[in-house]
Amino acid sequence: MQNNKYADVVIDITNENVDRPFTYAVPESLRDSARPGMPVLVPFGNGGRTKTGYIIALKEETELDPARVKEILGPAGGAVTAETTLIELAVWMHEHYGCMLNQALRTVMPVRNRVAVRKSRLIRSCLPEQELREFAAEMRRKHRAAMARLAEALAESGGSLSYEEAGRRLSVGITTLRSLEKQGVITVAEGAGETAPLPARPGIVLTEEQAAAAEIFRADLAVGKQGKYLLFGITGSGKTEVYAEMIREVLSRGRQVILLIPEISLTFQTVERMRGFFGDRVAILHSRLSDGERFEQFRRAADGSADIMIGPRSALFAPFSDLGLIIIDEEHDGAYRSDTVPCYEARDVAEKRAEICGASLVLGSATPSTASFRKAARGEFRLLTLTKRAVQGAVPAEVHVADLREELKSGNRSVFSRILQEKIRDRLARKEQVILFMNRRGYSSFVSCRSCGNAIRCPHCDVTLKLHTGGRLMCHYCGHTEAMPDKCPSCGSPYIAGFGTGTQKLEELTRKMFPEAKVVRMDADAAAGKNAARDILAEFAAGKADILIGTQMVVKGHDFPNVTLVGIMAADTELYVSRYDSAERTFQLLTQAAGRAGRGKRPGDVVIQTYRPEHYAVQCAAAQDYREFFRNEIAYRETGSYPPVMHLLAIQLSSMDEELLTRAAAGYADLLDREGQKLGTMQIGPVNAPVYKVHDYFRKWIYIKHLSYDILVTVKNGTETAFREAFPRGVSALYDFS
Ligand code: ADP
Ligand code: ZN
Ligand code: ZN
Repeated sequence: MQNNKYADVVIDITNENVDRPFTYAVPESLRDSARPGMPVLVPFGNGGRTKTGYIIALKEETELDPARVKEILGPAGGAVTAETTLIELAVWMHEHYGCMLNQALRTVMPVRNRVAVRKSRLIRSCLPEQELREFAAEMRRKHRAAMARLAEALAESGGSLSYEEAGRRLSVGITTLRSLEKQGVITVAEGAGETAPLPARPGIVLTEEQAAAAEIFRADLAVGKQGKYLLFGITGSGKTEVYAEMIREVLSRGRQVILLIPEISLTFQTVERMRGFFGDRVAILHSRLSDGERFEQFRRAADGSADIMIGPRSALFAPFSDLGLIIIDEEHDGAYRSDTVPCYEARDVAEKRAEICGASLVLGSATPSTASFRKAARGEFRLLTLTKRAVQGAVPAEVHVADLREELKSGNRSVFSRILQEKIRDRLARKEQVILFMNRRGYSSFVSCRSCGNAIRCPHCDVTLKLHTGGRLMCHYCGHTEAMPDKCPSCGSPYIAGFGTGTQKLEELTRKMFPEAKVVRMDADAAAGKNAARDILAEFAAGKADILIGTQMVVKGHDFPNVTLVGIMAADTELYVSRYDSAERTFQLLTQAAGRAGRGKRPGDVVIQTYRPEHYAVQCAAAQDYREFFRNEIAYRETGSYPPVMHLLAIQLSSMDEELLTRAAAGYADLLDREGQKLGTMQIGPVNAPVYKVHDYFRKWIYIKHLSYDILVTVKNGTETAFREAFPRGVSALYDFS
């Protein structure tokens, strides 16, 4: 190593000082071993006290007077700490995503906020989720609002809440808590680690496939091998039990575990099961925690009072000192991608952290991302497969494809294909339940003029306004609302009307077509009230409605054992979105939606309605054939040089000044051209973003492709400064690698 005469050292890593590192000279004896992340002893302050700091960067020169630069005293002894591994990870993110070191450090080590961090009292549910929901519904009916609120909040946050939150945010008083405690609904305990765990569930005997997957993992661990695995298991195949086995193995070796799940509120069952298995060794992160409460969960990881961290992508940075395993459930989920700087993909950061810590990595999904399955196909991940449903007798649903063009030809003008109508009638007669799924994107109704054809648009964004019940128009991008006008704003014609079928419209049509059915709807609108989503799902799960109409939210949600029919109203909406991964997203959505049918012992049916029955995403979802989908998809990515075959850097430029943006984009494209000629990159753009204007900001994209990821980082680092110098104000740039 050459550049190692001086080192930037941060002293107190959880403080705000991370962006003010101190420069020290590296002594001769450390020149070979010094590296970012290394803990060192340094003299600090006027008294010259010795402190522990961490090297975050090495360099050949310093602007400081060399005579006044103090020297590092030596390596700080002892074991590798969580900080060491996290700093190494931050340095990697800094290089890999081309973000500032600061930004990377703040991502992996959230600054300790100035909130009083006390050992807080914790409220825990004594009931499983379903009973908690029923209890909440019951209390609501009896107008015991505070009790209902608390029960719902518990259900939403995985079964535990801090005392603080109950009081401050839910305004639940002490009398209510006492009463709930007496009724055996909750326990309240001092500190996080002193309550009894939920009773373990009655012993489940692993299926042959589950046992085989767990055994491969165990055997690797036994010989000290930290593997990378893709657990590819169909929906309902029991991946959670396999995770639990793997976690047990790792814990028994005294190491810790991180389990990432896409969204806590929708995966209560996973959290509850883990808590059933591992009790109070589990720390949980979710979106309802305050900064202080989040910090408390991280503290439990740091001081050893928890050894499993469950949460969304930020749980990846739990400060465990001997991390042994990272699991990412539903690894294909879009929620694992950060859309703020640094724009990282949790999968990749997890892989890196596992390498740094000598930990194993397990990615699980019924519909793995193309990138992960490719790695498995190339032997970079060990593939573990579960091909059968875990519950005895449960079989995958039967899938039917209805061609909407044919329906129209034969005179069926309704939004329900004939086969779907027939099957809905059948289920209503048998008192079984139905889910009708509609993709959120592009299918809400907009308002347009029948005289001049103009659609009413958002004044701030480049989209049409959507019509909501009560006659208000709303922008789904910025939230702008206005009243429905009675005349066309362009030509004054009174003939304006809503078009298209949103979920509300579908609800109306469903009620008309099946007047005897009880219909409930679940979408962002219906779920706007704080706990409305929970109420609707609980009501449906309790069998109080026959048909549930919903968007993405119902697909990820629950197990509804009485649902034996899922209708996908329009399978192809996502296919019209121009992104290289829209087929993958369509396939995932269709497969996950289909997975909602027949979770119990009764066979299920799925009807996929589509205008493009020939598309491989639709065909493969209908055949429930992931591998065939993958073969098609990877061929498409190869033809188009898309990720994961080639790497892609997307640069988004945005500005309120359209003319400035146009110049800046052209200027940036020139810079990239020059740089790219040397390095052999492919360049596309600048092009307008699919939604050109959002919130009054215009947006343009430039795409750069290359086989080598590092080349893209080089291009970015090589052009960013020049661009900033040419356009210092008014345009911002966001970099997104994939
Ligand atoms: P996945 O996450 O793969 O979709 P889950 O882990 O949610 O599947 O399991 C689906 C259902 O099967 C759950 O109700 C679970 O309790 C049950 N289950 C899992 N493994 C077994 C087993 N070995 N024996 C019986 N039931 C099981
Ligand atoms: Zn008009
Ligand atoms: Zn808007």
